[in-house]
Amino acid sequence: MTKAAQDTLLVQAGRELKASGVSVNPPVVRASTFVFKSLGDFQTAGKTPYSTPFYGRVGTPVSLAFEKAVAELEEGHAAISASSGLAAITGVFLAFLSQGDHVLVPDSVYDPVRRLCTRTLARMDIETSYYDPMIGAGIVELIKPNTKLIYLESPGSGTFEVQDVPAIAKIAKERGIRTAIDNTWATPLFFKPAKLGVDAVIHAATKYIVGHSDAMLGVVTTSEDAFLPVRVALQDTGACAGSEEANLGLRGLRTMGVRLRQHHQSGIEVARWLATRPEVMKVFHPALPDCPGHAIWKRDFSGASGLFSVEFKPLAEGSMAAMIDGLQHFKIGFSWGGYESLVLPMHPETSRVITSWKERGSVVRFHIGLEDVSDLIADLEEGLGRLRLA
Ligand SMILES: *Cc1c(COP(=O)(O)O)cnc(C)c1O
Repeated sequence: MTKAAQDTLLVQAGRELKASGVSVNPPVVRASTFVFKSLGDFQTAGKTPYSTPFYGRVGTPVSLAFEKAVAELEEGHAAISASSGLAAITGVFLAFLSQGDHVLVPDSVYDPVRRLCTRTLARMDIETSYYDPMIGAGIVELIKPNTKLIYLESPGSGTFEVQDVPAIAKIAKERGIRTAIDNTWATPLFFKPAKLGVDAVIHAATKYIVGHSDAMLGVVTTSEDAFLPVRVALQDTGACAGSEEANLGLRGLRTMGVRLRQHHQSGIEVARWLATRPEVMKVFHPALPDCPGHAIWKRDFSGASGLFSVEFKPLAEGSMAAMIDGLQHFKIGFSWGGYESLVLPMHPETSRVITSWKERGSVVRFHIGLEDVSDLIADLEEGLGRLRLA
């Protein structure tokens, strides 16, 4: 049989299609431990990916089904779930880095990852250098003898630079350096870094995979030789996914294709509309031509999700709050990837070390949810009417 298309995989992955009389969804087994009828069975349990579970922290039937489904969608070797996206990222850093090592991290990285590097990893004598996310093959100049990991996040948080993943992965591979990427924005549907040789592909499944803003969940898909180190690091830190959360992740996958097509379409429509507005300096949306890395997005990605940022022209004091506070359909809040629209002022100037944001406008991030897009645009039109240029 030919390989199933992505939408078919979303429906079928991680399910036992051939068994008789079983529930459509794998049962949510709430278990801390599993019992065995012989010492022999007990001793062979859990020796290979997705094998018989033996202790809740190492996996339950539903977390194993979720991992299997994600790995299949990512086209990687195997996946490991974690208690949150950040736990998955921490597991990957600990898998590939030891005392005295050096890691390269893009300057547009998700802020909590920067804090992981500067607060916790620095204490362990792991050195971080931040690089321009648009550096591409130029990354070679930043590699030191002790560089053990090149971390990527594409597009970048807040400013949406699309990285040249194949160029960086190739250089890393030639030098025996591990690569890992935060692929949360694209989901496994729109970008598949594992196929480009990236060792660990990470998702904050909290976002689009769960898709309803009701659980914290992370997952890492690895290459064959990166699987054990990542699994060991995640097990040693005890950051396992709960059964209920893994179940919400698996359930979210079933509808992710239809949801993401709508986020893609509405997101682009709102972004294009915003780009025509006189209050707007720039729209950072990978599908729009002036987004840094737009050509790379066109080359490597098959779609866009519903998250992007807008840089407004310098505004009169208080007018941003008037715009945001009066919005009806956009709620103010962190996170994204659920069905609901969200708005969040960003502060790239406070964290970036390379990209200076001084003298520029204020940046606001929008998540375009599944509401009717004309309601969203009407809401924004009224909101932008409350802005006053400085
Ligand atoms: C939210 C987010 C994370 C962290 O995920 P949590 O599940 O909240 O820990 C990681 N990367 C990106 C890009 C995110 O937006």
